[in-house]
Amino acid sequence: MEFEAWWLILFPLCFGLGWLAARVDIRHILSDSKLLPRQYFEGLNHLLNERTDKAVEVFVDLARNHSETIELQFALGHLFRKKGEIERAIRMHQKLLARPELKLHDKQSAQFELALDFMKAGLFDRAEELFGKLDDTEFARAARRHLLDIYQQEKEWKKAIETAQQLRDTSHTYQHEIAEFYCELATSSITRSQPDEARQLLQRALAEHRKCVRANLLLGELAANEGNYDAAIEAWLKIESQDHRFLPFAARKLLDAYDRLGKAEAGTVLLKGFLSTYPELDMLDVVVERIAASESEAAAHDWLREELRRNPNMTGLLKLLEAQAKAAPPERQAELDTMLRLTQESTRGLSMYHCASCGFKARQYFWRCPACNDWESFLPVRGRTRA
Ligand SMILES: [Zn+2]
Repeated sequence: MEFEAWWLILFPLCFGLGWLAARVDIRHILSDSKLLPRQYFEGLNHLLNERTDKAVEVFVDLARNHSETIELQFALGHLFRKKGEIERAIRMHQKLLARPELKLHDKQSAQFELALDFMKAGLFDRAEELFGKLDDTEFARAARRHLLDIYQQEKEWKKAIETAQQLRDTSHTYQHEIAEFYCELATSSITRSQPDEARQLLQRALAEHRKCVRANLLLGELAANEGNYDAAIEAWLKIESQDHRFLPFAARKLLDAYDRLGKAEAGTVLLKGFLSTYPELDMLDVVVERIAASESEAAAHDWLREELRRNPNMTGLLKLLEAQAKAAPPERQAELDTMLRLTQESTRGLSMYHCASCGFKARQYFWRCPACNDWESFLPVRGRTRA
């Protein structure tokens, strides 16, 4: 390619244009920043250094002198709520809402913020009313999520089902939650002695989420309460294909149902079979008790010893030590008691259920974690910290 002399003029021209553009930009930024009061940066600095109280002080002063700055009022309201000064947050957002010149988007935003304030203050009725007004706005989805929280806290399960159905999408189907809401409704029908209504609700839970173990546990209990032990056993056995880790929840109930049908042996064989298929199941104690009651303590120990040889585990060892300590001659009592105490101490965690979402531990199983409020987050096997 041939070199042309006019290119030499092009280079400085481009450079000059770039310099000019940069100057214009910098001037623009500088003039913009001069419009912002010094207090704004002071407040921002406090916020960045996590001095919320100081930041609030500065922003309140700023807001007083610049009442036209709506964004500042919003930010301040948010800060008040975060600090737990709910009354101030409510007043701030109510004042904003009372402004006649407020644009539609700002009005909806203020309604949403005020609803959050009411929610935090525990004024659920007022929060619900405001969130409800945000249907068909850009805040609708976020408002529904909060409404779902409110309905769960208030145990308004029908409204919770309706809201979760509106919220469901491909990323979150709410199947687990909706099935649990139906189970909650069914539990309340059982308390009110409405078994048919409960059964219908539990069928809906299963239609929503076919792996809803709780629904089959309750269906089995309903049948057993009516003396229909075959139907009860049928419902509880379905748990194996849903999630076998929950089988221990039905273990004692199954034994009782087989007993009532005059098939005690079949019940014991069934549980022993589950343990040989799923050695991790938390039902050793149920089987040991059953053998001790139906045969003898000695037979129960023999079975436990054999089970431990096949599947060594701490829970089994503890059970065996307990049995041995109970039956030990006086000269071995102290030694066995010490062994038992040490084993109990080192296996304390094994007697607790763990929430897989937040790590909360409890002796009792919860379908909804009392700490993080997640549904079905408790692992069904005691001592397990991960699924
Ligand atoms: Zn939790």
